[in-house]
Amino acid sequence: MGTKVFNLGTKSHKTITVKWKYNGASEEWDGMYQDNSLWINKDDFDNVNYVPDTYQAALNKEMPGAGNPNSSTYKQQYINYWIAIITHELGHSLGLDHSPYTTDIMFSDSETAGPDFKYTWKRAKVDGSYAEFKNSLSHRDINRAKLTKLLGYW
Ligand SMILES: [Zn+2]
Repeated sequence: MGTKVFNLGTKSHKTITVKWKYNGASEEWDGMYQDNSLWINKDDFDNVNYVPDTYQAALNKEMPGAGNPNSSTYKQQYINYWIAIITHELGHSLGLDHSPYTTDIMFSDSETAGPDFKYTWKRAKVDGSYAEFKNSLSHRDINRAKLTKLLGYW
């Protein structure tokens, strides 16, 4: 976007705090942004099967390196995924809602309109690629972030 959006703060001077949450695998979220806190589900983060299982469920094929957590291929997939999750949550901090498009970092496979979300969809708009496994921003993500800036959200 040509703009530095986030700066690393200090313990006494910050607007967002990144925190672990230990809630067990029953939680239906791996990252969450709420009340100026960015939460990462530590149980999912520590589970070597979590990213491969999520990949398999989304793409219906085995994640490269899935069987070998010590391989560089697995490690790259793991890093891409968790950076993408954190980027998604930082997107929420800028005022971005979810998108039904899998190529967007703000993708969610379904959403129900309500106080937190404007639109309802029950099925992902898939084009064969998932931003969460590539850690990539789409043009739509960038344009939506520019819009929230123009609207004065940040
Ligand atoms: Zn989200």
